[in-house]
Amino acid sequence: MAAHVKPKALENFKARDFRMLIDGIWTEGAGDPIERIAPGHGIVVSRYPAGSKADAERAIAAARKAFDDGPWPSMTGAERSNILLKAADLIAARAEELAFLDCIESGKPISQAKGELGGAVDIWRYAAALARDLHGESYNTLGDGTLGVVLREAIGVVSIITPWNFPFLIVSQKLPFALAAGCTTVVKPSELTSGSTLVLGEILIEAGVPAGVVNIVTGTGPEVGAPMTTHPDVDMVSFTGSTGVGRLTMANAAQTLKKVSLELGGKNPQIVFPDADLDAFIDAAVFGAYFNAGECCNAGSRLILHKSIAAAVTARIAELAKKVKVGDPLDPATQVGAIITPQHLQKIGAYVEDATKAGASVALGGAALDLGLGQFMAPTILSGVQPDMAVAREEVFGPVLSVLTFETTEEAIRIANAIDYGLSAGVWSRDFDTCLTIGRKVRAGTVWMNTFMDGASELPFGGYRQSGLGRELGRHAVEDYTETKTLNMHIGARTSWWMPR
Ligand code: NAD
Repeated sequence: MAAHVKPKALENFKARDFRMLIDGIWTEGAGDPIERIAPGHGIVVSRYPAGSKADAERAIAAARKAFDDGPWPSMTGAERSNILLKAADLIAARAEELAFLDCIESGKPISQAKGELGGAVDIWRYAAALARDLHGESYNTLGDGTLGVVLREAIGVVSIITPWNFPFLIVSQKLPFALAAGCTTVVKPSELTSGSTLVLGEILIEAGVPAGVVNIVTGTGPEVGAPMTTHPDVDMVSFTGSTGVGRLTMANAAQTLKKVSLELGGKNPQIVFPDADLDAFIDAAVFGAYFNAGECCNAGSRLILHKSIAAAVTARIAELAKKVKVGDPLDPATQVGAIITPQHLQKIGAYVEDATKAGASVALGGAALDLGLGQFMAPTILSGVQPDMAVAREEVFGPVLSVLTFETTEEAIRIANAIDYGLSAGVWSRDFDTCLTIGRKVRAGTVWMNTFMDGASELPFGGYRQSGLGRELGRHAVEDYTETKTLNMHIGARTSWWMPR
């Protein structure tokens, strides 16, 4: 690997020192801070406190007190909504700074990071709207003697644990909805990408969120995350990350029967029929595989192509993939940035090696790229992949596209469903019946038809099977952070159990 070259944009750059937020106070950690080395540049860019179990417990106590005694859950929906709208405006005002942090800490391209910030602002505004419309139900149909009212109450203290691949976007898929419902929270960002979440803490204080309502504790999963999933004062855990840690989170939360919401891994198929608009598909295949360097739960990492078009389509995808600009995440023209850590790059390489040993062929890429910056992986295509190979079943989380083939619609559905994940899928055909048949039979939380990886704050997102539990976004997202309470009210004389009248 060549020596790291500091890009021009980082010439006068000094690593940023962050503190964590507990009970409205910015706090140092007790030990040495966690140093974040930029994956695209190889230099230290951020230092966050290495929070401890005791820090997590102080944050949980602050959130508990803010929920039990504080003003937040008692405010009107309109009051909370106004604060969330102010937060959205402040996020928009600091979007450049937030996107820069996500770019240098995660290695994602700056233009993409800016796009994610735009999406996040929209989600905060959407959650603000929902804060005013959260309501229960009433039953006036139970006879003259009964009125039933079903209340939606904030569930309480919510632990929010997020991964490194979309640092600001994913916290924005959880926190504003929890706040809209009136919950208080402890947030733990990934120890690799905590910067933008800590800046969000400053924004929320400025927007008027009271002390203790949002606590942000940085540190590792076992030290800070684990107590957030076991502590009896936590009512709900909202987790996004790997399926392995998601499973552990659910087991931990089961000890005190907390509600859990899990957004986990994916191995998402795109099924392509010969009558599809292949120009549109080829662009979407390259986007689906290489967006965020494939470090994306939604990556379209499994192509299931009709046998009659597989060879020609794979060749065209390879041609387009060669033109994808891999490079310095800070370069506005870059489309694919760096890989999150050197260890993860090795893991991606091992998947490619194992697949070729199992009989797959490298149709493009297949190796790390030495750009004289941080760690990068060449956009890769593996052809001749069989459904039982690890690379066809497991989440590689890198820019590696596996190509499988099918002959009948039933076979395509069988291959698509023959894995443990069920996050998302795509189908490409000009035939309405084909699209709907696949849309209904593939077991995934989202099925895109003649497009891929589009999203909107209004549309629920989440996974079937081992891709998760529950849904984020959409009009029910706030309800996820509530408990249901029945008020069963009696009107008039009550019939005695002892002495029937
Ligand atoms: P990860 O599971 O390693 O870590 C996620 C978070 O959990 C981090 O904050 C980490 O510190 C914390 N953690 C680790 N061990 C813990 C423990 N014992 N207790 C509590 N918390 C713990 O995942 P990652 O590598 O950061 O992210 C990549 C994964 O996230 C991929 O599998 C990807 O598919 C998934 N993901 C899913 C979605 C979705 O919406 N479905 C979105 C983005 C990422």
